[in-house]
Amino acid sequence: MDFADMIMGRSTCYINGDWVIADSGRTMDVENPSSLEVLGQVPDCGGEETSRAIEAACAAWQNWRQRTALERCSLIMDFYGLVLDHEDELARLMTLEQGKPLGESRKEIRSGAEYLRWFAEEGRRAYGKIIPSPWREKRILVSREPVGVVGIITPWNFPAGMICRKAGPALAVGCPVVIKPASQTPFSALALAELSQQARIPKGVFNVVTGSPVKIGAELTSNPKVRKVSFTGSTRVGKKLLQQCSGTVKKISLELGGNAPFLIFEDADLELAIEGSIKSKFRNAGQTCICANRFLVQAEIYDVFLAKFSKAVSKLQPGDGLNEGSDLGPLIDEAAVSHVENQVADAVQRGGRLLIGGQRHSLGGNFYQPTVIADIRPKMLLFKEETFGPLAPVVKFETEDQAIAMANNTEYGLAGYVYTRDLGRAWRISEALEFGLVGVNDSLISTCEAPFGGIKESGFGREGSCYGLEDYTVLKYTCMAGMG
Ligand code: NAP
Repeated sequence: MDFADMIMGRSTCYINGDWVIADSGRTMDVENPSSLEVLGQVPDCGGEETSRAIEAACAAWQNWRQRTALERCSLIMDFYGLVLDHEDELARLMTLEQGKPLGESRKEIRSGAEYLRWFAEEGRRAYGKIIPSPWREKRILVSREPVGVVGIITPWNFPAGMICRKAGPALAVGCPVVIKPASQTPFSALALAELSQQARIPKGVFNVVTGSPVKIGAELTSNPKVRKVSFTGSTRVGKKLLQQCSGTVKKISLELGGNAPFLIFEDADLELAIEGSIKSKFRNAGQTCICANRFLVQAEIYDVFLAKFSKAVSKLQPGDGLNEGSDLGPLIDEAAVSHVENQVADAVQRGGRLLIGGQRHSLGGNFYQPTVIADIRPKMLLFKEETFGPLAPVVKFETEDQAIAMANNTEYGLAGYVYTRDLGRAWRISEALEFGLVGVNDSLISTCEAPFGGIKESGFGREGSCYGLEDYTVLKYTCMAGMG
């Protein structure tokens, strides 16, 4: 049987090395957002099953942390190899449950695998320090230890990538994981669980529990055996989890929403800026946390940008992600489409100029037309809220100071972009932008080697890079006395 069909046909999740059903026997449907057909079911688990997964993870912890970093590295590298070997099946599965074009799914599988490889290698470099001691007879040693059982909660927009970014470092430093994937895209997570099993990651070290977000989330955040929670998702849910984690004083990382400004100055390479704008805004149908949410364009090039950008947007082909030639897929669900519709109606009603799109797509279902609206004002909803859809709002600015003030006028602080050929301006703007990630003349900047994460209400903690590993460790200071 085809790998993807096996995963979708199983109706089980993965706890302590076993494929299990919910205690109640209940399941939840998983739908294809493009055709709205039901693809299969996953167990509708709650607190009890999550508690058992945490117990299993805790039992597996001592053995897992006592293995050498090289032993863990070898197992994660086997896992990495299996992910690459199954790239086609994993990509098809992702497109079926998430909707993104197959080419984008492939890229996500490859980039997710790279996070596994990066952290497998980086785990061998979880160095400590020996600090010069103020005492002749004592030594000061600082080591990095695994934090313990990690609860991982992930969203639907990158169903495999987000898990690899979190489970990779956790496993590498010696932490077992209990993963709750998004209910709309659980199959990609269960496929990773299957490959972790084939890679002989020991039972209990990698668990995936599907089901009620509230019940599973409550257990992961309140159970004292979970020592860290790593969450990617909305700011609304992130704030809730932060509160819930306070009861047991857990370490927590939060990768939350964004409202990225995309600044284009009059001296920019306009062709490059338009290419970057399209990639940033329309990848994953605009459903990425770092995608451009507001285009800020300098007055001198405003009209020519609007003309060229609209022309480029008009060439984009929405369609089923499995079809050759589809540039963007559907939105994830009806609520996502309504959200975009609401922002468009608000902007037009407040004087926004609709240049292209602005309607549900004739493909029906969850498809929405790629849309450009000019003459945006800060009071409009699409300036203030994360859009998460194929809607590009454009606003005119005159001066650098005005652009910076507008760009930073948001409670979010994840990603920002600036296009200019003036080196001094590039430095000034990138330093002035209050965001965790800044792209200068580039809009696709994520990679496992660099730290990814936000400030302000976009959260805290970093993924990728050496810093992404540290988030799964705690520092221990040992004072060695008796040196004579
Ligand atoms: P979401 O509604 O916050 O859901 C994210 C995850 O949290 C899902 O697994 C969801 O489960 C779970 N969840 C929902 N309510 C919960 C609760 N009360 N307790 C515990 N878990 C709960 O976000 P989303 O709509 O799936 O994802 C889109 C958001 O993620 C956007 O805001 C986007 O910017 C953000 N995001 C951020 C980053 C980043 O790195 N900063 C990356 C990607 C996405 P169910 O699916 O079962 O509801």
